[in-house]
Order: sequence, then C-alpha cells, then structure tokens
Amino acid sequence: MAILSFEELKNRCGSKSVYEVAQEEESSLSEIEVDVVRLKVLEDLTAMKAAIKNGLKSTEKGISGWCGDDCAKLRKRYRDTETLFGKVFEKITAYALATAEENLRMGRIVACPTAGSCGIVPSVIIAVAEERKIPESKQIDALLTAGMIGLIVSNKVQLAGAVAGCQAECGVASAMAAGALVEMLGGNTEEILQAAALAMKNILGLTCDPVCGLVEVPCIKRNAFLGVHAVTAAELALCGVESKIPIDEVTDVLKRTGELMSPVLKETSTGGLAKTKTALELEKVLFNKN
Ligand code: SF4
Repeated sequence: MAILSFEELKNRCGSKSVYEVAQEEESSLSEIEVDVVRLKVLEDLTAMKAAIKNGLKSTEKGISGWCGDDCAKLRKRYRDTETLFGKVFEKITAYALATAEENLRMGRIVACPTAGSCGIVPSVIIAVAEERKIPESKQIDALLTAGMIGLIVSNKVQLAGAVAGCQAECGVASAMAAGALVEMLGGNTEEILQAAALAMKNILGLTCDPVCGLVEVPCIKRNAFLGVHAVTAAELALCGVESKIPIDEVTDVLKRTGELMSPVLKETSTGGLAKTKTALELEKVLFNKN
C-alpha cells in the first residue's frame, strides 16, 4: 500500500532505514525482487554520472544562445582560485550546472524529480560520494532515500512548476538531496526527515517564471544554488537542529502556497523574471519580433 505521509513512513521504518522501506515498497509495487530494484537504481545513478561527465566536457549552447558554458566558467575559476568553501562545494556547483546544461542541450539526464531540477540530487550525492569515498551501495541507498521523499511529496502535490511553482521542482529536489545526504553521512530516519523539512521550508514560495518559456533562465543556475541549500539543511539536521513545523505540515504548506500562487508565476512566463525589460528584449531577438 502506498505511503502517503512522512508520519506513515516513520511508522513503517521502525528499526529499518528509509532506503530499506523504499526498496521494499518498490519491490512490492513493481513485483520485482529488491536486488532488481537496486539494479534499476544503479542504472539511474550511472546515467546521472554520465550526464555530469558529458556536461563537464561541453560548452555547447542551447537554441537561445544564452546558456551552456557557465559550468566551464565556474571550473576555470576553481582551477585558478582558491575557493571559499572547498572541494565538495566546487563539485556540487559544477556538477549541478553540468547536468542542467546537458538538459539544455537535450542530452540524456535523469529527471529528479523533474528535468528542470535534474542537477540537484545527482550533484549532491555524487560530489559527496567522490570526496568522502562513499561506496556505490551507499549511493544507491541515498538515491532510494531521495526517491522516497519525492514520492511522498508527489502524493500530495504534483511536482510541476505549472502546478505549484519552482518550489515543487527545484525546491523538492533540494529536500530530496538533503535527505539523501543525511543517509550517506550516517544519519537516522528522524534526521533525514528533518533535513528534508528544513530544505523544503526554506524554499516555500519559489516561483516558476522562465524567460521565453525555456528551461534556461533562471532554471540552470538555480540547480547549483539549491544543491548547496541541501547541504545546509543536512548539516543542520545532523547536529540536531529541528524544523519546528513537521515535514508533513511543511508539505501541506507547499501545496497550499502553490494553490495561492498566481498563474502568472506558474510556468506561464507571463510574469516575474519572464516579463522584465531585459527578458522582453531577449524575447524580441529570439523570436524575431518587431
Ligand atoms: S523555474 Fe520553472 S521551469 Fe525552471 S526549473 Fe523551476 S519549475 Fe522548472
């Protein structure tokens, strides 16, 4: 039976981890063995790594010509300058941009939970795994944990900018990544859910206003920002900081905020950044308008 709330997940976990419940759930819903579930998750993880690798190599721009080389610029800076936050930060921001830019080029990415937010979960899991030498099996556990968080939120609200703004895409991706990171760093179920709640709570109200309706501005760079956001949430949760508002209530607020949000700010590109003076000028050039 589907797990419809985080409270229910906690009860189901008992002494089990979130990933164990997630793989059992998937095994029972899809009528396949747990080992096969894990192999499928490994396929996703492998595709995420390939997207990062391809993205790191390319500077090809998208059809608008606006984006596609930001990752290369960032990596050049990281080569030339000592960064403030160290290697994990460098990798998360670079991997998030690499993946989102692959999406821009119509390369193969894993929607996680959506294509627009595809860089957040992979960048956090893979960057931390590389730097901390975390084995593949733990990365699979982390991805299963992320999936469980995304699944429960999606049972309450559709994960689409058109339905609830970018809080339901990049915001939920950040909550998934925060939970996944806590799992990889050895946190317990409570800490995983606290991290997800903290990440989600702090992006409530994030609008979806892509310039010219393309998943480019502000989407691509947002992936890098919300990867780092996930790390903040995980660190807070791992030291015992708690969200005063429980995660189920935060999820309900995300849904309600999406309902209250004007359609102008839900992927219609009729407001927000999409209707700024500069965006209108870009639109004129792109669509050859007079
Ligand atoms: S701004 Fe809209 S289109 Fe872009 S990633 Fe967010 S939800 Fe998706």
